[in-house]
Amino acid sequence: MSKVYFASSRAVKWKYDESMPGKLERLLKESNLSNYFERDEWVAVKTHWGSEGAHRVVRPVFLRKVVDALKCLGAKPFVTDSVRIKGLDYLEVANQNGINHLSVGAPVVLADGLYGNDNILVKAGDILKEIAVASVIYDVPAMVVCSHVKGHIQAGYAGAIKNIAMGGVSSKHRDCGWKCGRGAMHTMGEGVLAWDKEGCELCYQCMEICPLDVIKFIDDELKWNSDECWRCGRCERVCQSGGLSLPGDAERFMRSLAAAAAAVLGTFGKNKVVYINFLTEIQPECDCMPTADVPVMQDQGILISDDIVSVEQASIDMLLKSPPLPQSAAEDRNMAKGDDVLFRLSEKPYHLQIEESEKLGLGSRKYELITL
Ligand code: SF4
Ligand code: SF4
Repeated sequence: MSKVYFASSRAVKWKYDESMPGKLERLLKESNLSNYFERDEWVAVKTHWGSEGAHRVVRPVFLRKVVDALKCLGAKPFVTDSVRIKGLDYLEVANQNGINHLSVGAPVVLADGLYGNDNILVKAGDILKEIAVASVIYDVPAMVVCSHVKGHIQAGYAGAIKNIAMGGVSSKHRDCGWKCGRGAMHTMGEGVLAWDKEGCELCYQCMEICPLDVIKFIDDELKWNSDECWRCGRCERVCQSGGLSLPGDAERFMRSLAAAAAAVLGTFGKNKVVYINFLTEIQPECDCMPTADVPVMQDQGILISDDIVSVEQASIDMLLKSPPLPQSAAEDRNMAKGDDVLFRLSEKPYHLQIEESEKLGLGSRKYELITL
């Protein structure tokens, strides 16, 4: 049974040790990082940098604690994420959200280059076939996966599996384009964006959110450049009228997340990856959206494990016990204590991500929770 170390967000004494940074320091000591990382070894600290308007990412103060703990071992950490919007703009987003060399104490680098083209094709099972793993993540020997746990319109629950499945993979590959990128998880077949003129309210949100400017409206008609589109799905997600859709299937999506996570983790040796889930500022949507709504559940704390399935299952079990917060999207939907908040928000079978990951041998849903 895998061990999951946990520290609660509650602070009941006026001591640094009781603070979240202080507890993270203690958790990092407790989890014996020296069993995983070596002197002079490069270690990727993989996190999501957020977006211009989504500020509820893993805070730099926590990334700094992880970096400092790795440096104490003599390892050489750096903080990384793969390109979600144009690379230089994404570095600027990281900086704006407080993630830079000065704040985290280590270089902050794009995992797949300025253009998101630096990646290696890796076998990824029956659904995806091959997936373009970001070259830095492919090459680096060790990784600490720092995930902001939250909701997600497509994944339902977004934690460590989604962080490395989507974030360890590029948007496109030089030869096979989006079909080997994260778009292969978001959609299927030719991934043709369907526009329903009758249903369209001409709000232009789809055009405004597109990171590549491949949606235009000419004489109130939507024009879409299929060749350039990454199939990131953001346009579909912001369309509230249902006027825009990409073909997809919820179960396939969950299984493909697990398959991509397995492909990314397959590039690491045994005992070379540690997972830290931050159950803080649990907002309803992905950190790549242009806003971050108020949290739907109270902060729970931080979990650390070397088993991705265990840390995800423990996070979910904790969230299932957490009541919905007032004045949030949960209240808008009349949720009550005992409801599965993330499922009610998305109506997506998010548990399949975890079950499929266990089937693929990534870890175990049985865990021992060790509370600080
Ligand atoms: S977001 Fe939807 S409703 Fe708004 S312009 Fe685009 S397709 Fe039309
Ligand atoms: S899926 Fe939509 S938002 Fe994403 S690149 Fe394509 S058109 Fe733009």
